[in-house]
Amino acid sequence: MSILMPAPDPATLARRADIAAALKRIVPDGVIDDAATMSAYETDGFTAYRQLPLVVVLPETVAQVAEIMRYCSANEVKVVPRGAGTSLSGGALPLADAVLLGMARFNQILEVDYDNRIAVVQPGVTNLAITKEVEGQGFYYAPDPSSQIACSIGGNVAENAGGVHCLKYGLTTNNVLGVEIVLVDGEVIRLGGRGLEQRGLDLLGLVVGSEGLLGVVTEVIVRILPRPEIARALLVGFPTVESAGQCVADVIAAGIIPAGMEMMDKPAIHAAEAFVHAGYPLDCEALLIVELDGPAAECDHLIERVAAIATQNGASSQRLSTSEAERLSMWAGRKAAFPAVGRISADYLCMDGTIPRRKLPEVLARISDLAKTHDLGIANVFHAGDGNLHPLILYDASKPGQLERAEEFGNDILRCCVEVGGVLTGEHGVGIEKRDLMPVMFSEIDLNQQQRVKCAFDPASLMNPGKVFPKLHRCAELGRMHVHHGQTPHPDLPRF
Ligand SMILES: Cc1cc2nc3c(=O)[nH]c(=O)nc-3n(C[C@H](O)[C@H](O)[C@H](O)COP(=O)(O)OP(=O)(O)OC[C@H]3O[C@@H](n4cnc5c(N)ncnc54)[C@H](O)[C@@H]3O)c2cc1C
Repeated sequence: MSILMPAPDPATLARRADIAAALKRIVPDGVIDDAATMSAYETDGFTAYRQLPLVVVLPETVAQVAEIMRYCSANEVKVVPRGAGTSLSGGALPLADAVLLGMARFNQILEVDYDNRIAVVQPGVTNLAITKEVEGQGFYYAPDPSSQIACSIGGNVAENAGGVHCLKYGLTTNNVLGVEIVLVDGEVIRLGGRGLEQRGLDLLGLVVGSEGLLGVVTEVIVRILPRPEIARALLVGFPTVESAGQCVADVIAAGIIPAGMEMMDKPAIHAAEAFVHAGYPLDCEALLIVELDGPAAECDHLIERVAAIATQNGASSQRLSTSEAERLSMWAGRKAAFPAVGRISADYLCMDGTIPRRKLPEVLARISDLAKTHDLGIANVFHAGDGNLHPLILYDASKPGQLERAEEFGNDILRCCVEVGGVLTGEHGVGIEKRDLMPVMFSEIDLNQQQRVKCAFDPASLMNPGKVFPKLHRCAELGRMHVHHGQTPHPDLPRF
């Protein structure tokens, strides 16, 4: 395991019983402080890393969250917010000297306003529950992470989550209109609102994707959209990954924005088919699922154009969904691709880098070479239309050295993404997984400026420390870090 976390503060550890007692006074029925029960919270979707929290608190009201934050702030206790714990970047990984603030009891849909097409929800509501609530009236919530059955909308806001339909409808940030957040000192503020207009600085834009570093989200106002008249999926097999990648580029270049355009390589196709029996062709090297939606006439026209582009790129097979059940079954394989790969490998690391679409064939070839260099298996599943890659690195944690090799392989993939003009993350966030690679993408000046924003919200660095930024700063010193006669100032500050 190569990712280091900040060393726990012994003084906080010594106060554990007092902290638990104080939290019990605030949430009498919602504190867990025995190791056996806390072990349910020791990791998130980034399961290679585990740590028991100091204590778990599960508030039910905004007033309780505010009081917890006031207490933690006054007593300099760190806090790690947590939704459903599905983060793949270790964002919700507990710290030994931090309170884990679980938001699962905030599970109510507070209001649906169909006239204005919004829903007001608590952060612990699952992503899919919003669609389930409104689908009877012909509406849905567009961002659809593959984890949507489990992940919370608060976690989606914190990670700016995406999904297979975000190519056309945007990520979480494009579908959230407002939030209520509790700041580190217990103050409650509202950002954004019920409409698209923002007053003042776009602080909502800062909070979406802030990975639990700026405050605790306690309410979310999301847009709901009317279901398109029709949606049809086209399943296209290709003899090479390059030809599939070129097809993606050509579809977009033709001015067509599908609702979703996903690619899987051969190992991922075989794993998904064996798991879900979606009817995927097994004789191809790459598979595209292209979904078109909208008015029926437009949809039919666009499907013909996409099919023609696929043929020009040498597609080896094409199948169009003829019923809603068939369309959903085509997506079921893709949405279950991660657990499907979990069936063929003891462990896997799910990477998340984004590249310019035209670089897809080049980067996939480089990933395949890197797999040989690191002597590990790889399966590729990704949001091809957005250039958002999810290489799944196959390894076995019980074999000495394999996790470290998998991590180095993952780092090489992400360095490659940045090198070709892409970015370190598409939707899973930085967390701890990509924290130490931040300097690959950002200069010291960039990172300092981002941390000044963090300091404006959280001057004592109590919210989710050790995540996102590769070293801790004290806010007062930020910007004045320089090496003088070979001496780094503030040598006591942890560099991970
Ligand atoms: C099988 C699988 C498939 C996935 N597919 C996708 C996908 O298609 N697209 C995608 O984007 N992601 C995907 N993910 C990743 C994950 O589901 C998302 O990042 C999701 O948004 C995390 O939500 P959560 O409720 O589980 O948050 P958690 O994992 O609990 O927390 C994630 C981060 O959010 C912060 N946080 C949580 N709640 C709050 C709150 N109320 N206030 C402030 N901060 C908070 C935490 O501190 C942490 O930093 C997948 C994960 C799995 C396991």
